[in-house]
Amino acid sequence: MLKQFLAPKFIVPAVIVGAAAALTAADAAKKSLGYEATSPLIPGTKWHVHDGTRPAPRVVTPAATFSHQAPPPSDAVVLFDGKDLSKWSGPKGDAAWKLEGGYMEVAPKSGSIRTRDGFADFQLHLEFATPAKVEGNSQGRGNSGVLFNGIYEVQVLDSYQNPTYPDGQCAGLYGQSPPLVNASKKPGEWQSYDIVFESPRWDADGKLAKKAAVTVIHNGVVVHHRKEYQGNTPHQRNGDYSKPHAPEVFIQLQDHNNPMRFRNIWLRKLGDYDKP
Ligand code: MG
Repeated sequence: MLKQFLAPKFIVPAVIVGAAAALTAADAAKKSLGYEATSPLIPGTKWHVHDGTRPAPRVVTPAATFSHQAPPPSDAVVLFDGKDLSKWSGPKGDAAWKLEGGYMEVAPKSGSIRTRDGFADFQLHLEFATPAKVEGNSQGRGNSGVLFNGIYEVQVLDSYQNPTYPDGQCAGLYGQSPPLVNASKKPGEWQSYDIVFESPRWDADGKLAKKAAVTVIHNGVVVHHRKEYQGNTPHQRNGDYSKPHAPEVFIQLQDHNNPMRFRNIWLRKLGDYDKP
């Protein structure tokens, strides 16, 4: 009696679930990596913002180390030496990320953290590691970011055998330019960024005089060479320079809900030639 009563309930949903699973697999095969159907074209290119059909950068296997654990030069500003987060603040005051074993780790949902001080043009060294335990895929896997003034992002992502839209992969200028090559290391391994950032400038009338530009060396491999930002780097939109700001910018590390780790962060202000 019980069997007869239960049987139809179980059989009918099983058929529906089976059909739904088949449809989902077919849809997934056709589904793009990106948002080219719903995002604007990037000016000066034939690609849309987050274009899944844009060519994926060639993979380059970096050497075991490059600037990993590089001690800061004598004129460097040390932003994080593994001991405390005093140079950083979070949305509610002090940075609330975890501090352990000489590195900091994103405490998911505690918010992005930023340097208390601002800097105009500089050389920045930092190291990061994506979670050794791989969870999620595409933009959901090992996502963070280094953002200048909170608006010009160099993406941080686990891009080791993790397809995503190329302008959002590790070392991409988010929504604008993929890196020249994919020099990512395996999940859990420490990776280095050596970045030269030049702040944008506006003249006294608020007219853009100089775009922001960035050079990025990822694990010893040049992935951007004085590449200009087309403005800020929002999701699914083109950036612009419509909001002038001071040349001194803070450096922000993004909380994207993944337990990313960072260590050994320092920068050097760039001087001018013939100005000792
Ligand atoms: Mg990010």
